[in-house]
Amino acid sequence: DLLSDDGFGAPGLALPDQPTGPVPVVAVVGRPNVGKSTLVNRIIGRRQAVVQDTPGVTRDRVAYDASWNGRPFTVVDTGGWEPDAKGRAAAIAAQAESAMQAADVVVLVVDGVVGSTDTDEAAARVLQRGGKPVLLVANKIDNTRLESDAAALWSLGLGEPLPVSALHGRGSGDLLDLVVAKLPEQPAAAEPGAGGPRRVALVGRPNVGKSSLLNKLTKQDRAVVDNVAGTTVDPVDSLAEIGGQTWQLVDTAGLRKRVGTASGTEYYASLRTNAAIDAAEVVVVLLDASEPISEQDQRILTKVEEAGRALVIAFNKWDLVDEDRRYFLAREIERDLRRITWAPRLNISARTGRAVDKLAPAMRTALAGWQTRVPTGRLNQWVTELVQAHPHPVRGGRQPRILFATQAGICPPRFVLFTTGALDAAYVRYVERRLREDFGFVGSPIQLSVRPRK
Ligand code: GDP
Ligand code: GDP
Repeated sequence: DLLSDDGFGAPGLALPDQPTGPVPVVAVVGRPNVGKSTLVNRIIGRRQAVVQDTPGVTRDRVAYDASWNGRPFTVVDTGGWEPDAKGRAAAIAAQAESAMQAADVVVLVVDGVVGSTDTDEAAARVLQRGGKPVLLVANKIDNTRLESDAAALWSLGLGEPLPVSALHGRGSGDLLDLVVAKLPEQPAAAEPGAGGPRRVALVGRPNVGKSSLLNKLTKQDRAVVDNVAGTTVDPVDSLAEIGGQTWQLVDTAGLRKRVGTASGTEYYASLRTNAAIDAAEVVVVLLDASEPISEQDQRILTKVEEAGRALVIAFNKWDLVDEDRRYFLAREIERDLRRITWAPRLNISARTGRAVDKLAPAMRTALAGWQTRVPTGRLNQWVTELVQAHPHPVRGGRQPRILFATQAGICPPRFVLFTTGALDAAYVRYVERRLREDFGFVGSPIQLSVRPRK
């Protein structure tokens, strides 16, 4: 009743430059059997069998999506951390230490009926050092009669103990109000587009056939749409129906008037190309299939990748490609486009119309990959399996571990790995490759950052 998963995780049509910082992290720490998992279940609004009756059992999943009053956050059950630390008190202290590094808010759970133990005090001492906001929960306060027990926990020096019954939900709403109040300020999330046209840019070096393709596209489906209710279209853009859907074609004025070549400066043309890429959600990069892939082509592709836009590669002028050329092109693709094997490729001809009808489906696929969100629970299940099957190599006697992962944003998908130490670049590439293998992201760059605990 109190806590609901409000669908934070549904793919939205977020704007590309939406300032989405990482979703804040709330870590729940405490010694075994105080009710951490029960509390986490309460926070995520589910009653799955995460609770284990065996104290100290390592859980296979640690991080979950949650939200309260419209504020999304990730909640981490640290019960599964530090399985090999020596001694219980040391282990809990280490757990608290980790939480201080990785989380934005730390919730220390103590059994309010048992009262504070040496172990609780060790954790409290770590958390007292500050750095992160801490909330002290006196759990298992199932009724008012037990509330005086909770008050005894003032002695831990972490401020007012909050009487909670994770099992029955008592006090958990008040706790969440306080958690949310302590989350770092976040820019207001942009409203998901109300089904407005998706913005697409057709780019490529001069003479690859951009304006020919534009003509073909707008002629083929006849309709050049003038207006869509509730949208304002930049005067240099145009709306066109392609493949049964209205798209906003970015900077078609530049293509129609051939501004780039008419003004004669390549520099001006490239500025315009960069602006079109920035303004678009999905970019169709045209290459002239009848000529070798050039450095200029590669610069444009790199720009799309760096700008984090969805990408479709169209090899135009396919009508001019013979068997010989096809052979060399395949080798050029292998050599020059190895970095971006994730982008859909089409062989088209703006002149004959060959495969032009495949563009819209490819753009839709790329946009879907661009706005894919992997739920935190699923992501962490995946991380656990990945780390078990393929652990990080030991480096100088230590072996960095991934504690948990969150997806910080979409458009393009961005991930943060919280780790016990720096990861080898090769291992990060491995994680990225596996992310693509298992979750797709076809047509989209993805970004991966690592946050090692100090
Ligand atoms: P963890 O090891 O800290 O994650 O603790 P669990 O969530 O697994 O809970 C340990 C035991 O305490 C389980 O049997 C829970 O049902 C019980 N428990 C958790 N919260 C409460 C509570 O608020 N009241 C009571 N009476 N029992 C609780
Ligand atoms: P832009 O500078 O990228 O806008 O290129 P244009 O659309 O102006 O095309 C440059 C030249 O390539 C023109 O002569 C077009 O007729 C020709 N062209 C464009 N697309 C094709 C194609 O698919 N096949 C062939 N053979 N020529 C094409």
